[in-house]
This record gives sequence, structure tokens and C-alpha cells, in this order.
Amino acid sequence: MEGGRRPLAVPGDGAAWPAGEAGALPPAPPGIFSLRRRKGGVPVGGWESAAASGATPPLASARGSATLRGMTHDILIIGGGIAGIAAAARLSPLGKVLLLEAEGQFAHHASGRSAALYEPGYGSSVVKALNAASEHHLFHADGGVLSPRGLMIVGGPGEEAGFEEDCADMGLTPIPVEEAQARVPILNPETVTHTAVADHGWDIDTDLLIQNFLRAARANGAETLTATPVTAIMRQGGAWQVTTPKGNFAARILVNAAGPWADTVSAMAGGRKLGLQPYRRSMARIAAPEGHEVASWPMIFGAGETWYAKPDAGALIVSPSEAHPMDPHDAWADDMVLAEGLARYEERVTAPVTRMLANWAGLRTFAPDRALVIGPDSVLPDFFWTAGQGGYGFQTSAGAADLLAAHVGGTAPALETDIVAALHPARFDG
Ligand SMILES: Cc1cc2nc3c(=O)[nH]c(=O)nc-3n(C[C@H](O)[C@H](O)[C@H](O)COP(=O)(O)OP(=O)(O)OC[C@H]3O[C@@H](n4cnc5c(N)ncnc54)[C@H](O)[C@@H]3O)c2cc1C
Repeated sequence: MEGGRRPLAVPGDGAAWPAGEAGALPPAPPGIFSLRRRKGGVPVGGWESAAASGATPPLASARGSATLRGMTHDILIIGGGIAGIAAAARLSPLGKVLLLEAEGQFAHHASGRSAALYEPGYGSSVVKALNAASEHHLFHADGGVLSPRGLMIVGGPGEEAGFEEDCADMGLTPIPVEEAQARVPILNPETVTHTAVADHGWDIDTDLLIQNFLRAARANGAETLTATPVTAIMRQGGAWQVTTPKGNFAARILVNAAGPWADTVSAMAGGRKLGLQPYRRSMARIAAPEGHEVASWPMIFGAGETWYAKPDAGALIVSPSEAHPMDPHDAWADDMVLAEGLARYEERVTAPVTRMLANWAGLRTFAPDRALVIGPDSVLPDFFWTAGQGGYGFQTSAGAADLLAAHVGGTAPALETDIVAALHPARFDG
């Protein structure tokens, strides 16, 4: 992933701003909004007077926001995982975006540790709507980032209920075990009693997807900074101001794309926590079973998602599929959990695990109702959420960012009203 570059907009070349007083922001450095000034239409009296009257103009028409004194940007995005990066791509046509990532590289946390699957039937009905809304982008934008994988579910004695539920949920067709064995020769006929397949399910080139979104954002003038943790957030003079080791930045709009830290960022801004909970999920990369070319194998789920395995560049990644609640942190795999998960995988195959090539873990962060959180905060002005991506952050990325852009730009979302409501932060009001 690409690193950051020097901020164009650090007032006083990195000097901290005076704290506290309203209107104490220094003037915007020259040139930052010149493009917007040429293109944009400022309403009579400017956005300052519009804001003073209580109106919140949609950002799409606020390109003349240079009139708001001292703002370095129109939109600050906190968090450089897939959520923040996709947001930067979709919001950058609306105004001057700055994407801030704490780590030294983008996609360091969950976004660098996924199984990279696009399965349209994976997730709740609300998640499936976002999957569908993302599908065209994943297949076609910039030449597409998907390649065929296919799915298989395998179940053993006592796993019938989970097997049937998974088949119904993700749309797989049961087939005889011998047929499944022809596709995945290591399936153990003594312990596998149920098998089902589907030809949907695609590998996502997650790195390419991220690079494509970053390229689109930068082409629209977005600035992107890594190694830039936001350590304080303040609302002052109609702007959000953030403090970072590289200086302070201000914009009218703040987007919270901080993944496991999204509640922390909200609290830092003086807002409420929505109860977002990170859950650890581990992964082992193992050598391909000897004598087998795994590239054409489907992604295989143990019934009830008790484990899964997926071909990965000549090897297999195997996850215990655990969901252990954790505080936000840089996650690592738990040895015991990995061993137990690998044992569940081994129970269904004839090839024992001989060599672990690598292992890792990431945090999948869910809202209490397991749907993503996308839209304006109910209390904080001009504060938008794109959080709670759970186990679906890549496959929902384009649809989620489109919805966020509709909220920020004040345009009609492409999604059905009930889906927009089910994703809206206001569902946690009261
Ligand atoms: C094992 C595993 C398998 C998965 N498999 C799939 C899959 O097959 N398909 C799929 O679609 N999804 C999958 N997921 C889920 C997907 O990876 C996540 O939903 C997605 O990566 C979440 O992205 P994010 O941007 O919300 O969070 P993150 O990637 O965690 O990014 C949040 C970023 O915010 C930054 N940040 C936090 N606080 C601050 C601050 N104060 N200042 C600056 N930056 C800050 C963090 O450093 C971090 O980089 C999987 C996840 C795991 C763990």
C-alpha cells in the first residue's frame, strides 16, 4: 500500500492551532480551494450566512466553502481501511477530501486481513442489499476485481440444521458427497455426510480494489495521509478540527470510518457510542495438501460456519471462524483457537495439516443489530458514520460509499427507503 505524503494544508507548516476560541482558526492557505472557487456556486450571502441561519447545505453544492474561514478541507475522513478509502473515492467529487490513517500504511487492520470473498448471499437482508448495490462496481469498475471461486458447504453427522440453514441462506444446491469429492478430493467420506455447491462466490482482489479507490480519490484532488492518528477532535466556528502529529486540519464535514475505533472517535468528538463491538477472527495459511492443485477448489464452509477454507495463491487459508469479542487493538491469532479450528477442518478431510505458513487475525466490527452504520449522526452536526462493516466490508464497499455520498451530498440514495433506514445511525436513537 502507498504511504502518505506531506500535508498541503498544515497551517503554519505544522504548527498547532490555538485551542478553544471560536473563530481562532488561521486563514486557509492560498490555493487550496481555488479549483472549487472556479467551479463552485456560493449561495447569496455565502455558506457562512446559510450556516448561521441554521441551514446545512448539501456539500455537493457547497464547493465555494472557501468562504468558511480557516478550513483546510471540505471533508475529513478518519480511518484508512476499505470503508474510509471507498468513502474518499465517492466523496472527493463533492469537495476537498483529506483521508487520515493512523498506521504507516492503508488497510493495516481488518482491511489487510480478510478472506477476500464476494458472496452476494452472505449476511442479513440489509447486508445483502448492500452487496447487490456493490456488485456492478466489483465486477466492472476499472476492469473489475472479481474472479470466479464457487462455494461448497460440507456437514457431518449432527450438523444437518446448520447445513440446511446455510444452503437456504446462501443459495447452495445439495449434491451427493461423491460428486463433491470429485471437486475436492480430500473430503473425507467417513465424516462428511452432506455437501452442497454453488457457482457464485468470487475472489476479490482486495489490494486492487483499494488501489482503484485511492486512485479515484486522488484524481479528484483528495489528499491521503498515513501515520497520522487523530488524537483530538473539536467543533469550532462551524468546523470540525482534528489534531494529529502532522498538524491540525479543519473541515465542515467529518466522516468516522475508524472501524473498531469508530465509537472511540465518536466519543472523541463529544458524541455517543453506538455499541459497536469488534470480534476477533483468526486465519492460518497452510501448505496445499500434498499432490493437490487447489486453485480450482471452491471456498469450503463447515456447516454453520464452524470453519472455512479457501485456496490462496497455491496454498489454503483456513479460519476457525471464531467471533471473540475484543477491545479495539492490533489483533493477532490465538494459538489455541487456531489449533481447534484446524482440528475441525481436519475432521472433514483426509489430508492432515502438515505445515502452517503464516497466521493472523483481524477484528470484524458489528453494530448491535449486525447491520452497517451509514449516515449522519443524530446529535453531532455534519458528523457522518460509515462503520460496523462486520465481515462484509469489501463486498459492501461500493454500495456503502455510494450511500454515504448520497447522505453527505443531499441526494436521493439508490437503495430502498427501508434499507437506508436500517443502516441509518438514527435507528439507535431513544
Ligand atoms: C479474518 C477476516 C476475514 C474477512 N473476510 C471478509 C471477506 O471475505 N469479505 C468481506 O467483504 N469482508 C471480510 N472481512 C471483513 C472486512 O475485512 C472488514 O469489514 C473491513 O476490512 C472493515 O474495514 P474498515 O475500514 O471499516 O476497518 P479497518 O480496516 O479496521 O480500518 C479502520 C482504520 O481506522 C484507523 N483509525 C482508527 N482510529 C483512528 C484515528 N484516531 N486516526 C486515524 N486513523 C484511525 C485504523 O488504523 C484502521 O486502519 C473479513 C475480516 C476478517 C478479520
